[in-house]
Amino acid sequence: MRASGDQIAQFFEGLAMLALVLERKGELNLRDFPLVEKLGPNDVRIRMRTVGICGSDVHYYTHGYIGKFIVREPMILGHEVLAKLLKLGVMLEV
Ligand SMILES: [Zn+2]
Repeated sequence: MRASGDQIAQFFEGLAMLALVLERKGELNLRDFPLVEKLGPNDVRIRMRTVGICGSDVHYYTHGYIGKFIVREPMILGHEVLAKLLKLGVMLEV
């Protein structure tokens, strides 16, 4: 699975966000997601540096479930991230 040249260029220009989506058991795709310009009061904006794929992600990919949680619709994988914090929502400012 590879991102296209356009997807990579948009990602590095901060115009697009790529995510690895588990479509269903055994099927992955890289998909573009639109960036939301306005932050909600409890949101943060980050710039991803690295995303890890952990055992849970692999289990969802290979089995389609973990315990009682069954993948019934597309799910973004990669919840262990290294990122730079760019902006805080107004309720998070100190
Ligand atoms: Zn994990």
